[in-house]
Amino acid sequence: MHPVLGPLELPQGFECEHCSYRIVLPFPTPKSIAGRPDWWPNERDWLYLACPDCKQISAYIGFRSAAPLASQKKAHADELLWRISFRCAVEGCNTPVQFHVLAESTVTETTERELRAKLASGYWKGVSPCGHPIAITENQKLVFDLIHEGRLQGYNPNHRMWNNFGSQT
Ligand SMILES: [Zn+2]
Ligand SMILES: [Zn+2]
Repeated sequence: MHPVLGPLELPQGFECEHCSYRIVLPFPTPKSIAGRPDWWPNERDWLYLACPDCKQISAYIGFRSAAPLASQKKAHADELLWRISFRCAVEGCNTPVQFHVLAESTVTETTERELRAKLASGYWKGVSPCGHPIAITENQKLVFDLIHEGRLQGYNPNHRMWNNFGSQT
C-alpha cells in the first residue's frame, strides 16, 4: 500500500552548503503528503544528506533550489538513496544519528559491507545531531535502509526504530 501522495513534482535539488554542488534525489518528492506528517518534507524534521561531491553531511528542512536541469535529472535517475542509522559511539552519548547517501543502483550482498567500510574510514564528514563527529566503532550496530519514492523521512530521534538499538554504554 502506498501512502496518499500530494501532487508530485519533478525531482528537486539541494544546494550543498559546503561546495554548492546540486544534489538531486533519485525520485520525485511531493511538497507535502496528506495524512502522513512523518514523511519528508514536513517543515518539522531535518533531513541529513551527504553531498556526493564533497562528502559533507548537511541538514535540510526543505528543498533549497528550483527544479534541476534536465541532464542532471537523467544522471541521477539510476542512483539509489540509502539511509544509514546508528547511535553515536562517543561514550555516554548514544544520540541517534541518521543520514542519507546516494549510491549506484546496483545492490549486491556486499553493498552494506562497503557502506560500513566507507563510514568506518571517515569517508563522510560532518557532525552528528549531538555535535560529535560522524564515526563508528568496529562492531557497532548499523541499520541500512533503501529509501524509495514516497518513503523519505527526516531525522526523528523519538521514532520507535531507535528502541531496537538499545544502549551501547
Ligand atoms: Zn558538497
Ligand atoms: Zn554524540
